[in-house]
Amino acid sequence: MILLLLGPPGVGKGTQADLIAQHYALTTCSTGNMLREEISRNTELGAAVKQYLEKGVLVPDSQLFTLVEHFLAEHMNGGLLFDGFPRNVNQARVFETLLNNIDLKLDMAIDLHLSENDIVERLAHRRYCSKCGRTYNLITNPPKENELCDTCHIALMRRTDDTENVIRRRMEIYTQETYPLITYYTSQGKYHQISAQGTKQEIFARITNIINGNKA
Ligand code: ADP
Ligand code: ZN
Repeated sequence: MILLLLGPPGVGKGTQADLIAQHYALTTCSTGNMLREEISRNTELGAAVKQYLEKGVLVPDSQLFTLVEHFLAEHMNGGLLFDGFPRNVNQARVFETLLNNIDLKLDMAIDLHLSENDIVERLAHRRYCSKCGRTYNLITNPPKENELCDTCHIALMRRTDDTENVIRRRMEIYTQETYPLITYYTSQGKYHQISAQGTKQEIFARITNIINGNKA
């Protein structure tokens, strides 16, 4: 099974990605996490993409394709979950070709929907672990211990792109570039929208309903 998660920044894709991946034994490809890891390891790619993440704009497609091709080469034999990729129509087209080339196809695109006010609220409370990349929300998905990662037990951080200006920019980019993917996947009969309101378990239940219904 190959799934992808769509939805604006701050909607809870990362949190749901963890739950879905665990439940269905999928390997997650989170391009945002992968890019942040490249930056923190100070790789050549990391140095090249840092400026884009700081501004909240999309990294050039070619750099994403490098990451995703590597990922596919290593994980083509199991179920996959894409979080944050594709993010524009060109990426979606190339993604389809990359999958085709290895005899795979996307099953579903699941779009998490939330009002803009709720999104801004969530981003303000978002924290992440710089070691394992796991994300938390201090209100809706808090760590067990005060602002420490459950797995790594190190202090959680606020993403540098979770500031008001950069958040606004990321939302604009989402509307301009990523929103057209709704039409793209609807025309392929793969698009499913769910409400991202409620607790993480409520949202997850909506997602499993869709996935299980689709498999049957
Ligand atoms: P969010 O969905 O909250 O914006 P992500 O972690 O998915 O967070 O992405 C953070 C940043 O990483 C984006 O603003 C963008 O600069 C970059 N990025 C992630 N995925 C992609 C992608 N598929 N194409 C281009 N840039 C990307
Ligand atoms: Zn951690």
